[in-house]
Amino acid sequence: MSKIRRRGFLKSASIAAAAAGVGAINSCSTEKKNESASIHTQKKYEWRMVTSWPPKFPILGEYAELIAKWIDEMSSGRLKIQVYGSGELVPAFEVFDAVSLGAAEMGHAAAYYWAGKAPAAQFFATVPFGMTARQMNAWLYFGGGLELWRELYSDFNLVPFPCGNTGGQMGGWYNREMNSVNDLDGLKIRMPGLGGKVITKAGATTVLSPGGELYTNLERGVIDGLEWIGPYHDYLMGFHKIAKYYYYPGWHEPCANLELTINKDAYSKLPTDLKAIVKTAAQASNVMILSAFDVKNFEYFEKLKNEEEVAFRKFPNKLLLILKTYADEVFEEISETSTISRKVFESYDKFQKKMNSWHKISERE
Ligand code: CA
Repeated sequence: MSKIRRRGFLKSASIAAAAAGVGAINSCSTEKKNESASIHTQKKYEWRMVTSWPPKFPILGEYAELIAKWIDEMSSGRLKIQVYGSGELVPAFEVFDAVSLGAAEMGHAAAYYWAGKAPAAQFFATVPFGMTARQMNAWLYFGGGLELWRELYSDFNLVPFPCGNTGGQMGGWYNREMNSVNDLDGLKIRMPGLGGKVITKAGATTVLSPGGELYTNLERGVIDGLEWIGPYHDYLMGFHKIAKYYYYPGWHEPCANLELTINKDAYSKLPTDLKAIVKTAAQASNVMILSAFDVKNFEYFEKLKNEEEVAFRKFPNKLLLILKTYADEVFEEISETSTISRKVFESYDKFQKKMNSWHKISERE
């Protein structure tokens, strides 16, 4: 009994020992692997983020800082990002070039600022009578929008990520009532982007005053009207003190998608986990910024309505319908500029139509 058992025991013991040995060898090689992996992943990166917002600009500048903070925390300090407001490292409208050329690794801005470089970029920010923030996200994440955006920016050595949205904006401040499209004729209005092109077709002139000069320009009649963002930011600018009417809807900016752009070479050098951290921070900010806008705009909408007794006015439907036909002309003109412009617009337009038919039912839009 004992012989057989002993033999059996020895056999299994040796198997166990061998197995332990193999295990030991394996764990030893795993340790080595981990050691080399940890040496590799402990590499620290120091990046710069340039933004199109003045330093500490409400919500936008604040979130640029938060994005850097979250990335720092998630990466245990392995990816440190120094944030620069507009003018601190480069001016607001040079963010695209600075990141493209590698003067900064990261940028926070809005794609419609780059219309002069790539007309199709405007479709990734906002489109007059276009998609809401929610629809825009659906198009970018699941409707092929982000792939097209990456294709467009690839030529500029950039990788874009959706990174925040203002939600629907306000139509703007005017000192006279807008009863028909003829009331726009001859007016000087601050309205950048595609909306500006649309009102030009209605006979208005667009004036691109810097943010800091808007108040005085409206007060002195250098401009007859302006659009800025929404109740929160407009209140901080004090426009309610000098303009009679606050118009809605912001037909020209039914949302404004913001972008986090990353220099393609810098991005490709990041290890997989840091790439995932950057992507996750952008996605988190995308939701948080939109929610921050909603909450602040609601609060200041109440303030403007109840404390300042601002006269809210709705653009008449007839006026909006005519502007919509002008907008369609503008889209056609941009689509004619290049194959990619046409491809982006067709994808956007098709997605919006489909989404609208569903949202009419589900969201009462
Ligand atoms: Ca605006």
